[in-house]
Amino acid sequence: MINADDVSSNTWISRHEVMQPKVVDDLEVSTLEAGRTHLLALTLLENAAARPIRLPLLVARGSTAGPTFGVTAAIHGNEVNGIRVIQALFEHIDPKKLRGTLIGAPIVNLPAYIRYQREYPDGQDLNRIMPGRANGNEAQLYAHLLMQRLIGHFDYLVDLHTASFGRVNSLYVRADMSNELTAMMARQIGAEIIVHNPGGDGTLRAAAAAAGVHAITVEVGDPQVIERPLVRKSRIGLRDLLEDLNMVDPDGERNEHAAIECGRSYWLYTDTGGILRLRVALRQELSAGDEIARLIDPWGQLLRTYTAPEPAIVVGMATNPVARAGARIVHLGVIAQPR
Ligand SMILES: [Zn+2]
Repeated sequence: MINADDVSSNTWISRHEVMQPKVVDDLEVSTLEAGRTHLLALTLLENAAARPIRLPLLVARGSTAGPTFGVTAAIHGNEVNGIRVIQALFEHIDPKKLRGTLIGAPIVNLPAYIRYQREYPDGQDLNRIMPGRANGNEAQLYAHLLMQRLIGHFDYLVDLHTASFGRVNSLYVRADMSNELTAMMARQIGAEIIVHNPGGDGTLRAAAAAAGVHAITVEVGDPQVIERPLVRKSRIGLRDLLEDLNMVDPDGERNEHAAIECGRSYWLYTDTGGILRLRVALRQELSAGDEIARLIDPWGQLLRTYTAPEPAIVVGMATNPVARAGARIVHLGVIAQPR
């Protein structure tokens, strides 16, 4: 019998050699050797024990010149699918054949990630306060340093998210579709739904755009899980985008690009409390008046029926049936007129 305390009998554990990341205080890509992928730990600030908080970064510096393309994940600390998307993308990039630089920041909100939570430890949503403030409070300072030390280096940015707890999403993109470049980026990812959203709301995407970075947001599945099919699809879509930007040569894999494009989107909320029963599925197309959900009381009596106010597609929806007044029901996208 194996005694777990007896180290000599721990034959079920194999220990693998890993490279130690290089600690850097600033991201100076020009000092990194070309044609290689570098593992970095970027110092952002210090915790209350006066120890540095360092972001894990992957940097593939190509052999030839080209743009700098950044991919970020887990700015909401529990949105972990994107971590694996970034790692998988780098496994499919040969830096010797890369034109330009690919930078992956798999865990942007590191303090939240280690707490399995969405918000920064002070309770603020980092993706509502970008670009932060140099002399600001905890989350504002962190946001500011992210912009200065990381995001400011990018020409392009894809920010990976997931749904929040109690909700599910389709694979969908938010982008300013009135901008030719970000519209192209949105279409190349291979999402199921694209929602036009000009930004300007304290998000990383909006702050990056204001700093001259072409940025889109991609929602990949559910929080606190790694979903292999969605990871694979997102990884292929990101590489497709690098192909279209002429940073890499085409490989054999390519996503189907047939996203449904929505001109706008919004959430419907309950107007009273109860138990929510959804009557729709993700990506279902609805006509005005189609039933979306029922709300019942603890005795099983029907309180409300919610219907589609206009023709729309289900982009995301609640999974938590316990609905307080004002709870999210569905995220509806209004399909744009064919151009
Ligand atoms: Zn998010």
